[in-house]
Amino acid sequence: MINLEQIKLPTLNGAVRDKNHKIDLIVIHAMSSYFIKDRGPNHIHAPDFLNSIGLSCHYMIDPSGICIECADPAKLTTWHAKGFNTNSIGIELLLPGCVTYSDFKDIMEHYNWITSAQLNQLTRMCHALMVKFNMDGRPEKHIKTHCELDPTRKVDPGKHFNKGLLCSIIEQRILGNEEI
Ligand SMILES: [Zn+2]
Repeated sequence: MINLEQIKLPTLNGAVRDKNHKIDLIVIHAMSSYFIKDRGPNHIHAPDFLNSIGLSCHYMIDPSGICIECADPAKLTTWHAKGFNTNSIGIELLLPGCVTYSDFKDIMEHYNWITSAQLNQLTRMCHALMVKFNMDGRPEKHIKTHCELDPTRKVDPGKHFNKGLLCSIIEQRILGNEEI
């Protein structure tokens, strides 16, 4: 069952999209749903955390599959993938709960943490975005993980993220097999 629920939490960081740059890339990221603030008891929600460190993305997908729209990719460039921002759309998959950065890296390395609700929503969104922005050709060409683009600095969305499965489901949808 695909969860179509969507909420908006507009980002504070980004720039008006330069229409001369065609969008031809979707970058898949991961981050914790909440961060520990100043080593104290307060937890900061992922959209607020990105705002506080000058970064941004277009969408987040929480563990229950709910999509949080932070920026409209047709209107805004966001700061999510160094060197690739001007031609891309950034999607953050959110880990449940609040983890430290070392635990986050451990989870990226060892666990298949992405929920089926997240994967369903991600599939639906990637397909819709490929259609909307006229990304022709196979999904593999247009969908990259952050660690693929920046392997020396980034580990998200982790070793167990199954990009091949994501792309094959999108391909079936492109071919019209909507029930898949
Ligand atoms: Zn990332």
